[in-house]
Amino acid sequence: MHKIQAAVLRRKGGPLKIESLELEGPRDDEVLVRIVAAGICRTDIDFCDDWDDASQPAVLGHEGAGVVEEIGKKVRSVKHGDHVVLSYQSCGRCQSCRKGRPMDCSRFWEVNFGFQRLDGSNALQKSGVGGHFFGQSSFSTHSLATERNIVKVSKNLPLEILAPLGCGMQTGAGTIMNSLAVPAGAAVAVFGTGAVGLAAVMAARIVKASPIIGIDINPMRLQLALELGASHTINNRRDDVAARIAAITGSGVDYVLEITAEPEMFQLAVDVLNPKGSVAIFSGATAPGSLPGGRKALSIIEGDAVPQHFIPKLISLYRAGRFPFDRLIKHFDFKNINDAIAAAKHGDVIKPVLRMTPIDRKQNKKER
Ligand SMILES: [Zn+2]
Ligand SMILES: [Zn+2]
Repeated sequence: MHKIQAAVLRRKGGPLKIESLELEGPRDDEVLVRIVAAGICRTDIDFCDDWDDASQPAVLGHEGAGVVEEIGKKVRSVKHGDHVVLSYQSCGRCQSCRKGRPMDCSRFWEVNFGFQRLDGSNALQKSGVGGHFFGQSSFSTHSLATERNIVKVSKNLPLEILAPLGCGMQTGAGTIMNSLAVPAGAAVAVFGTGAVGLAAVMAARIVKASPIIGIDINPMRLQLALELGASHTINNRRDDVAARIAAITGSGVDYVLEITAEPEMFQLAVDVLNPKGSVAIFSGATAPGSLPGGRKALSIIEGDAVPQHFIPKLISLYRAGRFPFDRLIKHFDFKNINDAIAAAKHGDVIKPVLRMTPIDRKQNKKER
C-alpha cells in the first residue's frame, strides 16, 4: 500500500477535494508512477459536471507525466527513475489491440471509464474511491499505469510541459496527421480553438494545409490560432461562418474538425464542406456516416494515435520548434485544481497543467 494524495470527485460539479488515500502496490504488469504534472482535459471537466452522485467517488485525470517509482515483475520497457508520459488505456487482447490499433479497443469504454481494472478490482478500493480513469487517475501524487499506456520520454524536457501530450495534443495533431491524413494544399477549418483545436492548427501547418481557418468565439484564442499557423480566423459570434469561408476559399473546405460539440455547428460543418470532404467530430456522439456528395463524418478517438509512436514524434516536432504546444499551457499548483478547472471552463486558460507537489495536510484543511 502507498499513501497518496488525490483530488476526489464526490459530487456533481465538484469541487474536487484533495484527500489522503491508500493505493495498492503495482501488480506484475503495472507501473507505479510518481506524478509530477497532470493536464486537465475537457473529458475530465465533462465527467465532473455529469457526475452521478449515487456512484462511488472517483479520481479523474488522464494527462499525467511523472517518474517511475516501482515496477511489477513482468514490466520490461521501463525501470525505476525513468520519465514517462501517461496516455489512454487499452485491453491488449482484442482484435484491434492485436492489430496495433489500441484506439479502437473493443473494451475502450470499460478500461478507460470503468474506474476499475478489467478484472473488476480497483487499486483505491481500500479508500472506497474509484481509480484507473484512463488507466491512470492522475489528479494524484501517484498513479498506477501499465506498459500499454506509458511512453518513456527524455529526461531533458520538463515533465510539466510534456503532460498534455497524452490526450489533448495527441488528439488534435493525430486527427490531422492520422485520422484525416490531411494532404498539403487541402483547405482545413477548425471549429473551436481550444487545446485540441490549436494542436490541430499546428499540425495543419506542419502538413502544409492551406488555407487553415480557425473558428471560435474567444478573441484571445483566435489570436493564438493565427500565431500558431491559422491563415484566417472567424469569430462565429460576430460573423457569418459560411459566407466568410466561401469568400476565403471560393467554395468550401476539404476538412472540418468540429470540436465545439454544439449541435448547430455540426450542421454548419456539413454546409461548408466540399464534395468528398470529411468532418471529424469529437463529441463521441454518432453522426451520420455518409453525407451528400461523398462527404464523410468520422468520429475521432485519440486522433488514431498509438501513443508510443506518436508522442515521441510530437516531442521531436516540439524540439524543432514546429509544434510549440507549451504556448497553450498555464501551470497551477495541485491544491488549486478547482481554480484551474474554472479557468479552463471560462476559456481564459487553454491548457491548465497541475504541478503535483505533495500537500501538507494541515495546510489543506486550512484552505478548505
Ligand atoms: Zn483491446
Ligand atoms: Zn482528454
